[in-house]
Amino acid sequence: MYGFHGQLLRIDLDSGKSSRHDLDESRLRSFLGGIGLGASLLYEYAPPRVEPFSPANPLIFTSAPLVGTGLTTTAKFGVVTKSPLTGFIGDSLSSSHFALELKRTGLDAIVITGQAASLVYLLISDRAVEIRQAEHLRGKSPNETEDAIRTELDSSELRVAAIGRAGENLVRFATISNEGRHAGRGGAGAVMGSKNLKAIAVCGEREPLVSDPDGVNVMARLLRQRSLSSLTDKYRNIGTVANLAVFNRLGVLPAHNFQQSTFDHCDALSGETLTETSFARRHGCASCSIRCERLFKSLNGEEQRLEYETLFALGPLCGIKEPEAVLQAAHLCDLYGMDTISTGGTLAWAMECGEKGLLPEAQKFGLGFGRPQGIFAAIPAIAERAGLGALLAEGSKRAALEIGGRSSDWAMHVKGLELPGYEPRGLKTMALGLAVSPRGACHNRSGAYEADFSGEVDRLHADSGRGALVAASEDFAAVLDSLIICKFLRKCFTDFYGEAAELLNKVTGWPCTDSELRRVGERIQILKRLFNQREGWQPHDDWLPPRLLSEALPTGVAQGVVLTAAELKEMIRGYYQARGLDESGLVTEKKLRELEILEAPAVGVKSCQAMKHAAC
Ligand code: SF4
Repeated sequence: MYGFHGQLLRIDLDSGKSSRHDLDESRLRSFLGGIGLGASLLYEYAPPRVEPFSPANPLIFTSAPLVGTGLTTTAKFGVVTKSPLTGFIGDSLSSSHFALELKRTGLDAIVITGQAASLVYLLISDRAVEIRQAEHLRGKSPNETEDAIRTELDSSELRVAAIGRAGENLVRFATISNEGRHAGRGGAGAVMGSKNLKAIAVCGEREPLVSDPDGVNVMARLLRQRSLSSLTDKYRNIGTVANLAVFNRLGVLPAHNFQQSTFDHCDALSGETLTETSFARRHGCASCSIRCERLFKSLNGEEQRLEYETLFALGPLCGIKEPEAVLQAAHLCDLYGMDTISTGGTLAWAMECGEKGLLPEAQKFGLGFGRPQGIFAAIPAIAERAGLGALLAEGSKRAALEIGGRSSDWAMHVKGLELPGYEPRGLKTMALGLAVSPRGACHNRSGAYEADFSGEVDRLHADSGRGALVAASEDFAAVLDSLIICKFLRKCFTDFYGEAAELLNKVTGWPCTDSELRRVGERIQILKRLFNQREGWQPHDDWLPPRLLSEALPTGVAQGVVLTAAELKEMIRGYYQARGLDESGLVTEKKLRELEILEAPAVGVKSCQAMKHAAC
């Protein structure tokens, strides 16, 4: 097989046994790799309604057909599991050399179930699987763990993905980290911790074969050239931190837990200011010509990675105006292995609850808008689940349910996943994208904001036509995330589906067409919804936090604009229609047949009757 190895590794940490299995070419062609393959394996291997922290919940690592081909921005891998934050599909991507080494193990996917009796790590090569004791690594940061394992095994080729203290302590938004990057959203790190699995080390010599190496090289050169053109200026010049000033100008920069839509101290924190005052160096993932990463110097002279979402969540969202404070908070999240968006979102919720008298412990703890010391104290407490940290480690949705009162109104999440830095009231297509996303409030599994920012639609008005835009944007993202290609390369394609099909053809030898790839994107999205449906999704899960539907945009150029429940309902109706779902948002038998999901043995949907029963 070209592009894939056709191999799946299953590891059971209860028994310590592992086994290799063939992966059907038909499954790979139907779902590709990355997030698509992960979603199909999750549907098959997760017992219906499994608890996220149950040993039976599979933790799935996936590779993808373009990994290792040398194509720019493709050194990525997927991590898919049932999310402990949402109870629905949790799918994240991470990048760099771990992805390349994972591919060299000769595997397309690893499915891990069970729970080790004590803390362990896995050593996986193209020849063997070893489960090794890791008690001596307990408490170490992901970076320290990577270094320790590479030293212990005396290997410079070996690559390691690890959890930090937050994952060990089942913080519901813990990450899995490798080389300073993270499979960040949805708490995959906590699932790994629940299995007593500290790290996975991979190495191998099975270079992937491609069907038409010369053809792949020609396309790789072309994409590389385009990736260095003005199409990626933003990412190459300042990086994603450039968003802060732009969003502020447009009045869509969430601040003070979405009580403001601009930030008074934006100039002090903007990407431009950071670049001028604290720039350390530019960096990039393996195999990437864009190199969007920016490292900044913190006060103690250390370098810290920062991108827009971290800057927004630990800055304006918490009312923090000092760049060095944001860098320090980001450093702490990396140290303990915590998703910065959910950390910032949960802290901002606690700050508001504290100010409004519902969470006196927050104020005792020093947590308040604009008070960095409170954040510095809270992040380690969350990672250790100490005192108030134990409540916050549950994420804003569960914490609000615990303390009650009006606090749920201020928990800014969808399906339990905290909102990213896009103000939905001023970006109405994005509002719909966030409400219906299978993984919760997510800016990565669709680029719905693009229609708003580009002026293709009036971002301040809602209509049912947004449904088709969001569905198309989700399908597009699903293909990118399954091939895998970085989203920052997306504008470098002149005809994405046509060129991507040609690329896949040259890598795999499959006679792909653009329409086949479009169907793959739709199939992946429908399967994610089907999974959520089986796990208990209800129509009210496709919704936005009350604040966004009851309070007008508080500040900025669009001040006073509202997003009403009726508008959101109408957009959701348009989305269900565009997706071919029934009027309450359920996947229909007709759609399953149309996309050949019902018949796919790999997915294991035995009958539509069973599927409907699971949705009840
Ligand atoms: S553009 Fe940025 S995120 Fe994407 S592959 Fe390159 S360095 Fe990584």
